[in-house]
Amino acid sequence: MNLNDSPILKTIVDSAPIGICILNADSFIVDMLNDKFLEIAGKPKEAILGKWYWEPFAEAKAYYEEAMAGVIITKKTFHADEVRLMLIRNGKEEWIHVTFVYAPVMDEKGVVTKLAVWVLENTTQVHEREQLATANDRIEQEREKAQQANSNLEQILNMLPASVVVIRGYDLIVEMINDSNLAYWQRNREEVIGKPFLEILPDLADQPFAGQLRRVMKTGEDIDVKESPVLFTDKEGNIRDTYVDYTYQPLADLDGNWNGVLVMSFEITDRVLARRLLEKYTDELSVANDQLSIANNKLVKSEARFKYLIEKAPVAIGVLHGRELILEMANQKVLEVWGKNATIVGLPLSIALPELEGQPFLGLLDDVFTSGEAFYANEIRAMLEHDGELKEIFFNVVYQPVFGTDGAVADILIVAVDVTQQVNSRRKVEQAELTMRLAVEAGNVGTWSVDRKTYKQTTSSRLKEMFGFHADEEITIEDTFGLVTADYKAKLTAIFKEAMASNGTCDFAFTINRKDDGELRWLRALGSCNLEVPGDPSAFAGVMLDITDIKADEQRKSDFIGMVSHELKTPLTSLSGYLQLLQRKAEKGGDNFSKNAFENSLKQVRQMTTMINGFLDISRLESGKIHIDRTKFDLSELFTEVDAEHQFLYAGHNLIFEKGESVSVYADREKIAQVINNLISNAVKYSATGTTVEIFYELKEDVVKISVRDQGIGIKQEDIDKLFERYYRVENNGNVSGFGIGLYLSAEIIARHEGRIWAESEIGVGSTFYFELESVSI
Ligand code: ADP
Repeated sequence: MNLNDSPILKTIVDSAPIGICILNADSFIVDMLNDKFLEIAGKPKEAILGKWYWEPFAEAKAYYEEAMAGVIITKKTFHADEVRLMLIRNGKEEWIHVTFVYAPVMDEKGVVTKLAVWVLENTTQVHEREQLATANDRIEQEREKAQQANSNLEQILNMLPASVVVIRGYDLIVEMINDSNLAYWQRNREEVIGKPFLEILPDLADQPFAGQLRRVMKTGEDIDVKESPVLFTDKEGNIRDTYVDYTYQPLADLDGNWNGVLVMSFEITDRVLARRLLEKYTDELSVANDQLSIANNKLVKSEARFKYLIEKAPVAIGVLHGRELILEMANQKVLEVWGKNATIVGLPLSIALPELEGQPFLGLLDDVFTSGEAFYANEIRAMLEHDGELKEIFFNVVYQPVFGTDGAVADILIVAVDVTQQVNSRRKVEQAELTMRLAVEAGNVGTWSVDRKTYKQTTSSRLKEMFGFHADEEITIEDTFGLVTADYKAKLTAIFKEAMASNGTCDFAFTINRKDDGELRWLRALGSCNLEVPGDPSAFAGVMLDITDIKADEQRKSDFIGMVSHELKTPLTSLSGYLQLLQRKAEKGGDNFSKNAFENSLKQVRQMTTMINGFLDISRLESGKIHIDRTKFDLSELFTEVDAEHQFLYAGHNLIFEKGESVSVYADREKIAQVINNLISNAVKYSATGTTVEIFYELKEDVVKISVRDQGIGIKQEDIDKLFERYYRVENNGNVSGFGIGLYLSAEIIARHEGRIWAESEIGVGSTFYFELESVSI
């Protein structure tokens, strides 16, 4: 059968939407084909029609020839579904996808006569599908990426210090929340995700947040609130008072409608509470501040005062800073003792006082720095340059470390007292003590001291020997006083007690019967008591001299004077008698010249007699032979007698006797007359001719005071107290001769009357001598 002969078939084949090609089953020669087939084959019709099928499709022959042959044999259709094969189309190799069928066409007898090839190209579909798959893959990747991104976002959100929550819809469903926000709400993720906001935190219903969230979703506006209070009630029912700064930002859905809010908040409770607290304290602080400012004022004043004090302090004060010892502060005194001025402030000490090199101070200060321990020293010696000269200065010093906030030594405070004078005077004292000791040893002097409180006596060996004790014997004050002879004991005790009680001195000679041999010895105690040294047991101390030999010498001298005077007195008495005789004779003979000459000679003899009597008195006094013969007499009568005697004797002077009322005294009349004579004689001797001498007495209570006043040369103050000492004579007393015994005798006589004698004087004006006696009733 020839298919081309059937016009119906041909039409069907030609208009079919799939490619059709019919071959002869025995030769595989192409018998018929349609345009669709040609289109798929990509070859011209003549290259296929009437040809062996595998000739134009040589490139596919190896793959499908066998299958085609099988169809003829098996009479079964062969299906190839979307296979990929290479065809040379329009001269070019192309990979295409096709679905084709090899179907047997049998005649009525069941013999395969033809073979139909049905082919449908699905390259485009396959490509599209593949593209779809690729797209799907990409979508999947994107989804994964999105998921990753989502989880990154979540992580980032959780890392944020801010609280973040996303809320959607009118019901305010929590869509997303970070850890920080969960912590702030005190909820876990399950309790909040997908739940309405007010269901999670019902106590926020009456707070403004829900309303604000809905408004943002409605209007798309941003809300930014600072320091909003947020109150939570916890599970125990306690109110949790918090503060937040928060923002609401609208979120849109895909269509651009606002349907969510991004909430970001920062809890600032601590900050707010701290500030509230701060505000609370501010008032108190301001009150305190006022007080502080008052106190500060005072402080400033007191600091100024303090600075002034330091500046003017009598001790040297300085501050050294740092290990370089920079002189930061120095008061006047420190500059003074260093011999420098204020220009050294700010300099390191080694430069300010270069002379310190080689002296221990810089090293000591450095030790204070490293050890942190204060340094104290007394009488430390420094050589410091004053006006270009090195001076030896002694200090008592303290180097006090001052610690900084880091606990290390920052500064050193120097406080120093200049004790140079003390050290020097002590050296002098030490020197004096040494000299004294040598003198004591050389002079064979005994030393003693007595504790003013306990009367405990300390004596040197030499003193013990003087009293006749063994050198190493312990002796008490009673032991020594026990040896003093009866005539001196009371007096010595009195003198001793007085010196102890007052700040006085004593110089007293007395006799003892020596302990070992009972010999009478003369001793002289010299001592001084210094009450200004409190608690010093040896405050009353002195020396003891054995003056027995001196006394013996004196006695011999005195005996000799006594003897000589006595011997001189006899010829003088007879000389005086003869002269009186001669005077009277000349008077009778009218020999005026001789009369005057004898008169003057008599005056001289009388003066000489007075002198000799003085010496006699002294020798008597010292040998204890002078006796006081007391009688009761009227002083005014004595005055009358003395007046008569002296007017004649001292005619060159104007002697005025003022005799007052009668005053009775109980005394040695002769010796009191001697004292008055003596004072008048001195008044005349030491004043110019023609001047006045007044002699008068006055009675006050029971004491009569006799005064002799002259207009003479006067006596210097320093001499006045010594006038009454034996043989004392004032230098430059007008070349008046004398022996210095008159006042000594007078004083002795008055002393034996328990009276008092003294003088007042002014150089060039005159002197007044006084003595006092006790008056008795008539
Ligand atoms: P003299 O023999 O030296 O007068 P006195 O003992 O009487 O000895 O006097 C001692 C010293 O006192 C005298 O040397 C004299 O310097 C001084 N003196 C005594 N009386 C007077 C006086 N009235 N005026 C001045 N000096 C006096």
